[in-house]
Formats: sequence, structure tokens, C-alpha cells
Amino acid sequence: MSYIQFLGAAGTVTGSKHLVNVSGDPTGTGFQTLIDCGLFQGPKEWRERNWRDLPIPANGIETVVLTHAHLDHCGWIPRLVKEGFKGRVYATPATVDLCGIILPDSGYLQEEDAAFHNKQKSSKHEPALPLYTSDEAKQALERFSPVNFGQTVKLCDGVNFRFVRAAHILGSAMAEVNVQVNGKSKLVLFTGDIGRVRNNETAPGKVVHSGPTEGESPDILVMESTYGNRQHPHTDPRPQLAQLISDTVKRGGSVVVPSFAVERSQKFLFMLKQLMEDGKVPRVPVFADSPMAIEAVSIFLKHSEEFSEETKQMIARFGSPLTWPGFTFARTAQESKKINDSHYPCIIVSSNGMAMGGRIQHHLLQRLPDPKNLVLFIGFQAVGTRGRQIEDGEEQVKIFGQIVPVRAQVASLNQFSDHADTAELLQWLRTFKKQPEITYLVHGEPDSSQALKDAITKDLGWNVEIAKYMGQAQLA
Ligand SMILES: [Zn+2]
Repeated sequence: MSYIQFLGAAGTVTGSKHLVNVSGDPTGTGFQTLIDCGLFQGPKEWRERNWRDLPIPANGIETVVLTHAHLDHCGWIPRLVKEGFKGRVYATPATVDLCGIILPDSGYLQEEDAAFHNKQKSSKHEPALPLYTSDEAKQALERFSPVNFGQTVKLCDGVNFRFVRAAHILGSAMAEVNVQVNGKSKLVLFTGDIGRVRNNETAPGKVVHSGPTEGESPDILVMESTYGNRQHPHTDPRPQLAQLISDTVKRGGSVVVPSFAVERSQKFLFMLKQLMEDGKVPRVPVFADSPMAIEAVSIFLKHSEEFSEETKQMIARFGSPLTWPGFTFARTAQESKKINDSHYPCIIVSSNGMAMGGRIQHHLLQRLPDPKNLVLFIGFQAVGTRGRQIEDGEEQVKIFGQIVPVRAQVASLNQFSDHADTAELLQWLRTFKKQPEITYLVHGEPDSSQALKDAITKDLGWNVEIAKYMGQAQLA
């Protein structure tokens, strides 16, 4: 039997994990590959699934094809390796580089979390254990093999794939998987996360240059639906950003920006630099606070071929952020603590982007209670995350077991989104050379997937289903 099984990112936006099983034998297990292998994040009921075994043994999975380096797509790979996976993980060169810093950092955070729960005795497990350690994440990296865009890789007889551009983040790809089933060839396109469309004016926060690859012709489409019910603002975020920062500094406050450490943070730093050089934002100290901060800048600059003309020009104009006066990159915990000691207005960019872990927690703990400060979100906040609670206007949040009042100003700039919105998704689908036999929507909250299903059915007349957690889709 040949099928796709949705092991994650079905009914939610995290834990992307799609199993492709290709078998000539109607009863037997065939060749098994995972498309993405991400962590569940957000509400406990989802996070607990990180601890469950897959429905198939890890050593029965032969390969992983990874679309991009966000943790909700790659963060379970070290666990898969720990459970016995012996195959290769295929990803684009930039994704391999990014995972090289993101996965060990994730392991480190898991260790810190476990240590915290052991100290507080706040876990029902005794002792609380990390899902994987930083060392285990480093070992998992040995399984990674870089694959360039457009290069066809044969996974076994009758199964091959190639990466096409997703334009979501640095190195992000969609996977075109070609399988031979009963002598017929089937093309399945897994979109991973889909970036903003080509036109710069409608996507002012866009970093990556090309837009998603157009003219696809899959038989089966497995597509993300994060923003299936949303339209991004199409305005330039800079004037609003400048105003928010200037107002905060004027009242003696600081700006705290939870941000994904790689790419999003760099893009934001370049925008800040530009605004400061143009005299639109006061020159207050800027701290990029992440253990990965310095490596992240190097990877960002190394893969600048992936960027839009605008970003390339900014890089040419300002050079490496590591050399900018007034910008400090905090790598060690001690350097990070020093930022907390500063009581003059400053801008702190720290991970993680949904305020669920990492050093941002310390900054929020300290700065959230003061109405002079501003917490500025520049990324999507998934349901159930601390970031979403703050964004939704909760009066208090819990950080490190402490109740912290939210008195700081809270603002969100949605222009920075790396996900296409509904109109952009439809625009991209209209470039397809033919209508897929069926489209499965994944990676969306239920309302969002439903809205996108309705829009695609109404506008294009396609056959669309919303994928169910653990549900199967037959390939033949
Ligand atoms: Zn992503």
C-alpha cells in the first residue's frame, strides 16, 4: 500500500511531519521517508506528542527530506536519530548551515528546561529529561546531506525528489516527490511553508528574492495554510516602526523584540540601522541577544545570494552588523545578563520568536511590568504560546514559574511575515499548469485551514481536504 500519513502539523501549525510510504506489496511496509520532522510547540496537548513514539519505528524510516530550518519543521530530527533513525537527512545548503546552529541550541534549551523542572520539582516525571541534548543534536547533524535547488535525488527505485523554491526563509524549499505506484508516476508537492509573492510592493518585509517557484503541476498537493484566513498589511512597516521606537525612547522605555534568531533578526537589524542612519530612529544601544547571534550573522551574509535586491543593497551599504557601532551581539549568558543591568533606553532583539524559551524570557520578565517599555512582535504568534498571550492582551503571563504583569505597551508589525497570505496563496496556485487531483491542507489552525479550503474551492473549483492528525491519504 502506498500512502501519505500526516504525523504532525494537522489541525495545528507545529510538528510538521509527513510520512510517505511507497510499497508495491498491498500488505507490506514499503520504502518510508519523512517530509519534515518538526517539534510540536504551543499548547501542552500538542507538546506532549513530542514524547510519543511514531506509529512506525524510527529505524524503519529510511530518509528525511527537510524543507527548512524552523524548529516546527526540523526540531524533532535529533529525537528521531536518538530513537534509531540511521538514514540521511536531505536539505538545501543554507538549511544545513542553519540547522547547524539551531538544533544544538534547541537541545541546549531542552536541557535547561529539564534542569529547571528538576530544581522546581515541577514535572510529573522524576527526573525530568530533555527530549534530546545539545550533544545529541550535534550528532544528528552528521546525518545531514546538502542538496541544491533543482537537483534530482533518487531515494530508492521508484522514489525521487527535488527542491524548488519556497521563498519563506533562507534556504527554504518545497519538495517535489516523484513516486512510481503500480507502474504510474505520481508527483506530490509538499510546500513546507510558502513565502511572500514576487511583487515587493505587496510584501514590504520580504527578504528572499524569488517568490515561490511558479508553474508547478503536482498530482497531489500538500499545502500549508497558516494564513488561510488573513490578509497582511501591504504598507511599508518602516514609518510605523520608527514611530513606535521613537515614542518608547522618548518616555524613557526600552523596546523588546522577540524574534527568530536567524534571518528575521538580521533583517530587522538592517532595517533599524537604516532608520538610524536616516535619522528616523534615535541612536540608542541595540542588543542582539542569542547564543547563536554571531554565527547567525555569518550564515546570513554567506547566503546573501538568496536575497531580494533591496536586502542586497542594504548589505552592500552597511556591511556586517558585527562591525556597527552601538550594536552589541551577546553570545554568552554573562553578556546577556549585562543587558538586564542597563536601565537606559535600548532595543533588545532576542529569541525565541514566540517567547516560549530562550533568553527573551529574562528580558520579558524584567521589562513587561513597566508601562514605559514596548514589546514589539515581528513574527507569527501561534495559539497557546506566551507570545500569543501577550499579543492577545492578557493582563499577566507566567515566566519561570512567576506571575508577571503585562503593563508594557504591546505592538505587532505583520509586514515582516514570511508566510504568504490568502490572496498570495491563491495567486501562486493560479500559476499551476494543471489542477491537482487533490489538495491536502496542513500547517494551519482549524479556522484558517477551513477558510483557505473555502477560498480555493470557490475561486479555483479544486478538490480540497483538510488533513487530519494521523490521517492517511492513498497514493494509489
Ligand atoms: Zn517556517
